[in-house]
Amino acid sequence: MTIACPQCGWKFRHQVKWICDECRKPFYTFDHHGVCPACGHVHEVTICPRCRVFSMHEHWYRDDDDDKTWGERILRIPKSKKKKKRSQDNPQP
Ligand SMILES: [Zn+2]
Ligand SMILES: [Zn+2]
Repeated sequence: MTIACPQCGWKFRHQVKWICDECRKPFYTFDHHGVCPACGHVHEVTICPRCRVFSMHEHWYRDDDDDKTWGERILRIPKSKKKKKRSQDNPQP
């Protein structure tokens, strides 16, 4: 799993701390799932240090790197002999 900004893709690293809205103490928000370890304040949104856009904390957790952690996967390959995809028949406006 990757922790990255939903807006610009900036990846979290332990060089940036976020300041608690409540007690103003800096902490690694992704180590504590948005909860301040000092006062327990829950931060539902997290600002990106690069693009300065607030995003929902949950949206920072991405699944797109799961391939590395899942290990082996077995997928069915559908038979594609029947018909071609129709997407070419219906070009988008
Ligand atoms: Zn960003
Ligand atoms: Zn706090």
